[in-house]
Formats: sequence, structure tokens, C-alpha cells
Amino acid sequence: MFKPSWLPLAPALGEVLLLSKASNAKRRQLVVGNWKMNGNLRENADLLARITNGWQGERGADVVICPPFPYLSQAHECLRGSSIILGAQTVSERDKGAFTGETSASMLADLDCKFVIIGHNERRRMQHESDLQVAQKFEAVQKAGLIPILCVGESLEDREQGKHLETISRQLNVVFAHTGKDVFDKAVLAYEPVWAVGTGKTATPEQAEEVHKFMRSQLGALADSVRILYGGSVKAHNAQQLFALADIDGALLGGASLDADEFLAICKAAE
Ligand code: PEP
Repeated sequence: MFKPSWLPLAPALGEVLLLSKASNAKRRQLVVGNWKMNGNLRENADLLARITNGWQGERGADVVICPPFPYLSQAHECLRGSSIILGAQTVSERDKGAFTGETSASMLADLDCKFVIIGHNERRRMQHESDLQVAQKFEAVQKAGLIPILCVGESLEDREQGKHLETISRQLNVVFAHTGKDVFDKAVLAYEPVWAVGTGKTATPEQAEEVHKFMRSQLGALADSVRILYGGSVKAHNAQQLFALADIDGALLGGASLDADEFLAICKAAE
């Protein structure tokens, strides 16, 4: 049985989880907006009002917005009564304790987040998060009953040396070894080539489809049911072409999620 076309106003977690359990059915498309370190109270209120006005009622795709931590409560309030789901950009791998500046998965659950981005390349590169740490975060998110969006992707150097699948395989295998593959029924994957994120360069449909197919092939029994997003300079003008590909189930957006018109156009292309 597959979840019908929309989420109720305040989706229960069980219902959100169901979305990734479709088997032999067209996977429901998902668009995730990663605001990164952008926004302020005034700009957020305006952006969220425009997005919620443009995305009302029954819709044929799921939409998640991941604001910076200080604005999660604001976003939660602004999204009340809409079908848009709240997510977070990162999380600590630890439960609680003397870890200044960190935020636990249970705290995010408390704030009604349903999804958490894990292993974004900006955190792997700039915060030196290791593959193992990413796996531990993945586990912590699931333990708190939330859904990890696990990002993987190769550098330009890997791509140029033809090692892109090797890199992605390594990033996935560390998580598989840590948690097993069965838990991916409650997870989302995102392919984000590092050279395409925030650069204006998008993977060609052939490049994206090759990697998505490969990632799907690594998922064993869940190959047909896990949603795999593409991320890397997706805009309104190229979204449709990417969403038409068999193994792409939506997008993880950075820049485009900060512009209501652009964001809504991409969400509508995903329906
Ligand atoms: C991202 O940050 O995950 C991303 C895909 O950014 P952009 O859309 O700006 O390339």
C-alpha cells in the first residue's frame, strides 16, 4: 500500500515514514530546501509566507524545509497548517552532555523536525566530518525516530579520475557496515556531486542517472523503495529534466530554496 498524494496538515511521523516504504510503486517525489546559514526573522517570515501560500492543500510531492537551528521554532510556527515538513541541516552523533554548541537528534524531534540532512559535503569538507561520524549521526537520527537524508558525492578530482562510483561506494559502505541496509526503509539518500553544489554546474542527466542507478543497486532488497534525491545547482529550468529520470526521486536544493518563486516552481515540477 502506498501513501496517497498528500500529507495531512501536521503529518504524524509514522505517516512520513510510510512514504519511503513504497514497493514496486512510483516513489513519491521529495523536494528538500537547505537554507544553509542564510536568513533572519524578517526574511524568513516573508519567504515562509510566500512558500506556504503557494503550496496549499493536496499536493503530489513532499516538501521539506531545513532552516538554520535558531529559526526552527519560527519555521515550525509559520508552517503550522501547511503540508510542508520541517527538517534540520545537521545534528550531533551524541545523545547529550558536555558538547558545547551541539544539538542532539532528540532536541530536533522535540522541535517537530521530521528529517535531518546528514553528511552534506560542506560539513564533510569544512567541519571535517568523517565517514564514520556521518554513520553515527545517521544512527542517532534514526534512534530519535527521525529520517536521515544521507548525502554522498564525489569531488571534481574523483570525477575526473573516473573514481566517482568508488567514492560513493565507500561513503555508503561505512553507513551500511554501521547500521545494516535494512534500516534504509526509514532513510532518504541524496547524490550531491561536490563540483555541482553551489557552483551553477549541474550533473548531466546521464551522469546523475548512472550514479543514482548505482546507489540503488547497493540497497539490496530496498533498491526499489528508497528515495534518492539529486542535489547540485538544481533550478527551475533544469528540474523537470532531472525529475523525469527513472532513478531520481526529487531534489535537495541550496540556493534555489531561498527564492520562493524558484523553490515553488521546482516543487511543482516534482509533482
Ligand atoms: C546543497 O547545498 O545541498 C545544494 C544542492 O546547493 P545548491 O542547490 O545551491 O547547489
